[in-house]
Amino acid sequence: MSCLFCRIAAGEIPSQTVLADEHVVAFRDIRPQAPSHVLVIPRRHVDSLWELDDRELAGRLLAAAAEVARAEKLEQGFRLIANAREHGGQEVGHLHLHVLGGRPLGRMLSKP
Ligand code: AMP
Ligand code: ZN
Repeated sequence: MSCLFCRIAAGEIPSQTVLADEHVVAFRDIRPQAPSHVLVIPRRHVDSLWELDDRELAGRLLAAAAEVARAEKLEQGFRLIANAREHGGQEVGHLHLHVLGGRPLGRMLSKP
């Protein structure tokens, strides 16, 4: 298995898990851009949001992102980002949602 996030989901590469269930895993970003920066991924490999055609999994990912925000106590607010494909600036080719918070994030619609 060569995909980095598949290996993290399988526990082959260590990560700081925030939550995990049968379908999704959330872990801390290795280069945090905010005091709280967590990535939410599906356990099964999906290249990016472009390829995601499973609405049930989409719902699970979104619900997990909200759970992460609550677990991180981001009651003052947070931002959810999905970089997709080349123009979206996606670096890791396994679908992931960034949950960012813990400081004001400004008005930019991009990853701070
Ligand atoms: P993106 O640019 O949306 O593809 O974001 C990929 C993110 O994965 C970046 O924010 C990286 O810091 C993060 N990342 C890369 N390798 C790891 C890793 N081993 N553990 C946790 N986060 C990682
Ligand atoms: Zn993968």
